[in-house]
Amino acid sequence: MRVESVRMADSGLGDVESLPRGGFRCRLCHVTVANKPSLDDHLRGKKHQRLENLRNVRQAQELRSVFVSGFHKGTPASELSEYFQAYGEVVNVVMDKDKGVYAIVELQNEEVLEKVLAQPQHSLGGQKLRVKPREKKDFKYTPPRKQGSARQGQLNPEKLAQKLCEADDVDAQMPLMVQLFEFSESERRLRDLLVTLFQEVFLEFFPGSAILPFGSSVNGFDVSGCDLDLFLDLEKTKSFQASAKGPNEPQAQEGASPELDSRSEDSILSDIDLASATVPEVLELVATVLQKCVPGVHNVQAVLNARRPVVKFCHKESGLRGDISINNRLAICNTRFLQLCTEVDERVRPLVYVVRHWAKQQALAGNPFGGGPLLNNYALTLLVLFFLQTRNPPILPTVAHLRELSEDEERTVVDGWDCSLPKDPACLEPSGNAETLCSLLSEFFRLFEDYNFAGCVISLREGRQLPLPGFLSSCDMAGRLKLGPFNLQDPFEQSHNVAANVNEKMALRFQRCCRAAAKYCRSLQYQRKSSKGKIWGLVRLFQPGASEAEAPMAEGLVIYLPKFHEQLGQVGDLSHLWFQKVCTGVAFVLRDVLKCSCVETWQGLGEEQEASGTKQKEEGLEAKSEHMVAGAKHPINEEEDTVSPPAKRLRADALLPGGERTTWNCAAWHRVWLGRRRVRRQLHGPEPDSQQQQKAGSLELEAKVSDVIAQQEGEAGPAGPLLQFTVCAQFASTGASDEQDTHISLSFAPASEPSAAFQEFFHFLQGFLPRMVEQHLANSA
Ligand code: ATP
Ligand code: MG
Repeated sequence: MRVESVRMADSGLGDVESLPRGGFRCRLCHVTVANKPSLDDHLRGKKHQRLENLRNVRQAQELRSVFVSGFHKGTPASELSEYFQAYGEVVNVVMDKDKGVYAIVELQNEEVLEKVLAQPQHSLGGQKLRVKPREKKDFKYTPPRKQGSARQGQLNPEKLAQKLCEADDVDAQMPLMVQLFEFSESERRLRDLLVTLFQEVFLEFFPGSAILPFGSSVNGFDVSGCDLDLFLDLEKTKSFQASAKGPNEPQAQEGASPELDSRSEDSILSDIDLASATVPEVLELVATVLQKCVPGVHNVQAVLNARRPVVKFCHKESGLRGDISINNRLAICNTRFLQLCTEVDERVRPLVYVVRHWAKQQALAGNPFGGGPLLNNYALTLLVLFFLQTRNPPILPTVAHLRELSEDEERTVVDGWDCSLPKDPACLEPSGNAETLCSLLSEFFRLFEDYNFAGCVISLREGRQLPLPGFLSSCDMAGRLKLGPFNLQDPFEQSHNVAANVNEKMALRFQRCCRAAAKYCRSLQYQRKSSKGKIWGLVRLFQPGASEAEAPMAEGLVIYLPKFHEQLGQVGDLSHLWFQKVCTGVAFVLRDVLKCSCVETWQGLGEEQEASGTKQKEEGLEAKSEHMVAGAKHPINEEEDTVSPPAKRLRADALLPGGERTTWNCAAWHRVWLGRRRVRRQLHGPEPDSQQQQKAGSLELEAKVSDVIAQQEGEAGPAGPLLQFTVCAQFASTGASDEQDTHISLSFAPASEPSAAFQEFFHFLQGFLPRMVEQHLANSA
């Protein structure tokens, strides 16, 4: 049976399942194809062949391996290998890494296996071993998991749009955003369990220590899959160590608890003096403890050059990522502040979730490549809280007022900063402000659309903006706060500008996006559910690049891709499919040929846009009309009433936020635009220019050229990206009559002021990118 199924699989057919309407599914690769020729292509293709080989190798390994348990915990693999070598050659020993209680021993062949199994009893180091044949498991290919939890994976943009559109109004959409993004019960439980586990392990090594979660896991703004920020508080451990090291009584000093004393001998503390050790030294130790002693944790890495040095880790099973820091007590306080705000008014969470998501979609916030000019989530949240402090009447109290409300025992000073906050939100009067969420969101955008970020300091301590001249002359910490194009003072560490990394370009983009959002919020399309099943409310607001589309064009940073008709054959009604193919090509060229990082932030609206190109245009047209009407002086009662002349259709569609669009956050790591011809020559020797030209069309060759350039720039690789930018792909209008418009434009927006290097890169892409995308389409046609 077994041999037969393997043979079937060898030919590929055992993996194939027929589907209704002539389709097929390859169970091995989880791939569905439309017809027999595509199936044949797939079965001959690289992916299927690779997985088939892998399966054969695994099955052969299985047939000659034994499962061994019963040995002493901590027995090294070499000892097991030595033991089984008495029966024949041992190819490999895989230990159960987490618990060290079993091992898989791979023998040279099935003959050796028979010999091992024929032995009635095995023992090692005085322990009786249990030796069994390996369980035969079906080979299962697990497609690579996207970052974040499974739940986040489920919430793809199409589903999000669909769920939001089902709500009755924006006031219902906003709390729905919280429900859709916040932790599930099981995710919260997992985090709690992990924190408990860390706490137990660290207590063993650092007596008296405490592991305190902070950041979005606990501050009320949790998003499924977000990182787990932990603070390892070693204050008590320090005093314990100091007292235990006292000159006269090395063990039990007054104040050191018996519990701490009893652990002192085993403690890692004998290796380090916490009082004199540097932060990197302690973090190295923390990293060692994490790596060696916390089950299920891997990819441990100390990052010592950040503003707050941390040890990063990953929880293997769940994919959860986290950081441990040791000098971040202020973050515990600002986390409490954020938490308190969510407890004070129930509008805070929905508003923050929506603004965060909007800003992420517009590539205004987040931190995909570590560093860069984007607002971080903490800064963005402060901005929303500030806005709520400034409503009339205020929805949130100022930090100074919270301090006044705190009791004596709640008074806290950290690193010299007053961080006093009341524990109980009930001590605050409920706000008399009755504004709806829908209106608050649009007011948020209105406040910041023309805000003078560079000319003032935003203070949550005082709940108002402090004009720069006054701030500079009156404030002690004025000299220390790093002023820039965006000044947002931390409410506790008042010398810290939490938006100091934001550059002028990003500050302007933020304003521009707020302006576009404020304008959209005035439209009927934002305010009213579509009776025709079109997207409305938050959904259209979240479309990335909507407000940006015009700006890069104005600066000329746009590449128009030709129509490439011949690669796709009959385009007909397949504009959605066509768009996706081109986008795949663009991402391929950036990522695989030019070795850039390229992370897609969003894709068009799936089902809605699978409709025919004409329908899409009509929908877009109506949407645009609604948009324009809402911003104009003429009131329109019903969206259905909107009619526009056909001649304007294509233009309207092209400018619409509703048009199909894909945005990537990208980073270039090497100067791949320089010296390519030279490298091509190195790879191919001197050849006439015409042949070079031909070969230059090959994606493979171009990828090699980029590899060589990257290698030549240094083995160690760059410390950070050379350039960061976003690319937004959308259908571009030529204004042509009723011809199917398949031009696609790529709008580039550098994350910082366009440098000479960016200009060079862009200039290079103007020639290179369309050619390469065309090549990719031809290969995949
Ligand atoms: P998410 O992880 O979902 O992006 P977060 O709020 O956890 O959101 P992190 O960047 O992980 O964001 O930061 C964790 C916490 O560290 C923040 O919530 C805040 O308490 C603190 N923090 C982050 N950046 C700063 C900063 N620039 N100044 C002061 N505190 C900060
Ligand atoms: Mg975090």
